[in-house]
Parts: sequence; C-alpha cells; structure tokens
Amino acid sequence: MRNTSKYNLFRIISLALLIIISFSTFSQDNSSSKKKMVVVIDAGHGGKDPGAMGPKGNEKDLVLAVALKLGKYIEENLKDVKVIYTRNTDVFVELYRRAQIANKANADLFISIHANSNDNPKAYGCESWIMGLHKSASNLAVAKKENSVILQEDNYEEQYEGFDPNSAEGQIIFSLYQNEYLNQSAFLAGEIQKQFKNRVGRYDRGVKQAGFWVLYKTVMPSVLIELGFVSNVKEATYLFSEDGETYMASAIYRAFKKYKQEIFDKPVQKIYEEKETKKEVKKHDIYYSIQIATSKKQVKIKPSKFKGYKNVFEFKDANVYKYFYGKEKDYDKISTLYKEVKKKFKDSFPVAFVDGKKTSIKEAKALK
Ligand SMILES: [Zn+2]
Repeated sequence: MRNTSKYNLFRIISLALLIIISFSTFSQDNSSSKKKMVVVIDAGHGGKDPGAMGPKGNEKDLVLAVALKLGKYIEENLKDVKVIYTRNTDVFVELYRRAQIANKANADLFISIHANSNDNPKAYGCESWIMGLHKSASNLAVAKKENSVILQEDNYEEQYEGFDPNSAEGQIIFSLYQNEYLNQSAFLAGEIQKQFKNRVGRYDRGVKQAGFWVLYKTVMPSVLIELGFVSNVKEATYLFSEDGETYMASAIYRAFKKYKQEIFDKPVQKIYEEKETKKEVKKHDIYYSIQIATSKKQVKIKPSKFKGYKNVFEFKDANVYKYFYGKEKDYDKISTLYKEVKKKFKDSFPVAFVDGKKTSIKEAKALK
C-alpha cells in the first residue's frame, strides 16, 4: 500500500464530488441516505515477514488467499459494502500502518486474518480473538507472536511509543483501554467460530481475548482470526487446499453478513418512538459527555487514575465499565471540552445520554 497519499487524494476528490451530487439531489432527505458499510480486511504478515511457517507453506500466503476470497465474496454479494485491504499482494506492511489504514478509511469493521503454529505438531483448530486482557500465559504467547513483527520494522520505538512486544508488562498496560466496541467484536468473533465449527467442521478453540496491537489501535469493532495451525500437517494440508481456502473464506463471509444484518443494518433502537395516539410529547433528559476510558474491572474514581480529571463518572454497559468526563446540556460546550480532553485521552470520544441511557450524539440530536 505505497500509494496511499495518492489514493487518499483520490478519495477526497471523489467524496467531495459525492457530497455535491447528494446535496443537489437529496437535499431534503435525511432518512433514506444510509452510510455505506466499510470493512477492512487485513491479511497478516507479508513480504519479508512470512508469519508462521509449516510443512505445507507459510502463514502469509494462506491468509492472503483467504483474505482475497473473503473480499471477493463480499464485493460480489453485498453491493452496499466497501472492501479495503491492508495488502492484496505479498508485501510487508507495518502493524501501525494496518490500523492507520482502517482508521483513516473510517471503517466500520476490521477483520485481521492469521494462522497459528505451535511446537507441538499435534495442536490444531481455529480461534478468534478480540482485544482484551490476557487471561492466561498461552493467550499472552499468541499475542506476543503476532505483535512481535514490530521488531522487524524500522524505527519501531517511535511508532509504537516504546511498546516492547516481548514484555508481559507491555501487554498488560492495554487493560484500561478496553475496546469500546468489545461487544460487537465479540458478536462477530462468536459467529465466525460458529461457522467454522458447524459449517466447515473445524475444531473450535473458542473466542479469546488478548492485547493485539492491531486490534488495540483500531477505533472500530475488530476481530483477529487464527484459521488453524500451519504446523499441523493434517490441518495445513486442508488449509492450503483450494477447498480449504474457499470454505474458510465463505465461513467468515457468512459471519460477516450476519454481523452486518444484526448490528450494522439494524436501525438505531426505536425505544423513543411515540405511538400514533395523541399523547403528550415526552420531554427527554439529554446531556452530553466524553467517554475517556473503559475497563473490564471497576476502576476507583479518583483524579490520579484519570490523569488528574475530577468528577469522572462511571457507567456499566454489559460487562464493561466505562468512564466519562464532562456533563453538559449544550453539545457545543462538550465539543470545546473534547478538544482538550483528547490531548490527554487519545482514544476518547463524545457521547450522549438520553434519559439515563447512553446513546449516540446523532440520536440525541435527533430527539432534541
Ligand atoms: Zn500471524
């Protein structure tokens, strides 16, 4: 992906054109204009980095073949989805660039495809990973292996802010930065594993959590798939076959399609919709805030834990504790505050609360 700047320029121009076109044709219609879903497909490794090596071939070639097939199925069958690859040939792409590509494209989903290896040639099965804490030493080992490519990159100290992929501590600092999109990532990971197991008959090693750099740095739901073990002759024979690649890619495709239907396409919950009867219009209690951190474990609220910020408040969403700073009825005030906050909390973003429920800024504004 060396022509990104040219590509970006092209995108900006096309986008500008698109905006002009849509304004002139649909200027009054907000409801039917739907954002095209953007999915980034990330084939792991590539070029000088072969990834895991096995008797039937290298990880980088297997994952590229599956990634391209997956992209093709999506493009052929789901016309309202835009597919972006982090690589579509055998080239080396730094880890930080992969996340950057997804973030810059404002992608809705990031799917990273990998394959495993183990000193034990009998190890087999597929697994899907989402960002999180390493619950065990073996989880940490897999994350380290996938993160360690960083060491092959030039200037990695600058790009990864001193992050050492080989230290356990380096991994665990991610804990406070629990991915906001964890629930959605978990949904997709679960669907992928179901497809692998039920439709392709693969051994299901489950959905796991660890601190993968690419997942950590992407600001969207993201999943990292380990297709199977290239170190296991039997499994590698299947995976490197035309059938194997096709079945694995179509399994991921079906899971993706389900994710799109269940999560992306579903209209924002219509909890606030009024009935036809002429009831009094209910006034909603709406305020805005900034989400600065999330954590699996509850964090004691004191300024030292939140870079000196006072009056941070907590909100539990599913299994994740979320932490917020600022509380304003006026969105512009939060917007101004956010400019300061994001200097300290790079991954923070503004949110809205409607009648005590966390919701999107867009939805809150629509209710106002
Ligand atoms: Zn890998």
